Amino acid sequence: MLRLTLKWPYCPDGVELHDYGPRSDGGPLLSGELSGQHVRYKTNRREWANWKIDHLEAPLVLQFVNAKTDAELLGFLSVHGLTTGGWSSQDGGREVEWSTVKANQSYLRTQLLQIDYEESAEKVGRRINRLIASHPNFSLAPRLEFTSGRSAPHFGLSPQSLLGFMLMEIFLMLDAGARSKPCLRCRKLFVYGHLTGRRSTAKYCADRCRVAAMAQRNREKDKRV
Ligand SMILES: [Zn+2]
Repeated sequence: MLRLTLKWPYCPDGVELHDYGPRSDGGPLLSGELSGQHVRYKTNRREWANWKIDHLEAPLVLQFVNAKTDAELLGFLSVHGLTTGGWSSQDGGREVEWSTVKANQSYLRTQLLQIDYEESAEKVGRRINRLIASHPNFSLAPRLEFTSGRSAPHFGLSPQSLLGFMLMEIFLMLDAGARSKPCLRCRKLFVYGHLTGRRSTAKYCADRCRVAAMAQRNREKDKRV
């Protein structure tokens, strides 16, 4: 499998939503005036996360699309960083329009669902190819990785943003023949097939959901007796 890595900043103090209010009437579009809800880092502290893909058991893209509520989505961004570089705000932090983050989430979820349901992997792959070709955020740069105890570096490719990384995860899933589907109990998407550690017959995202579903079936059986 292609070795994909991403060194990406995040704020150890987390992220927050900030509302700039409506755009002022007739304000010049080029003034860089911000309006509406944005998600931004709480402070200027930054740390670096090193993301890489060795297998497909828990792709970041699944965690991203499974964050159903605003609180869950903010929790994901607090741990992993903002999905793209975004705008530089006045206080030196970085921020992204909340509607953009939500649109990205919805786009990725749609791609993951369509691999299994309405469309063939080929169609989804061709669409992702077109998107990557048209968006500089998704270009890949070569990178040499050095790991302790190993003198020779690994060759890897690095996308330009966390969003690009997650899109490449879908690419790698298509490449490996892995797929995703919603859990029968909690509706969260989970991966199955090659390199995922799950069989295609799996119905639940985790043992927790499988056990809960079994307990519910047993309760219903008891009621009927
Ligand atoms: Zn579940």
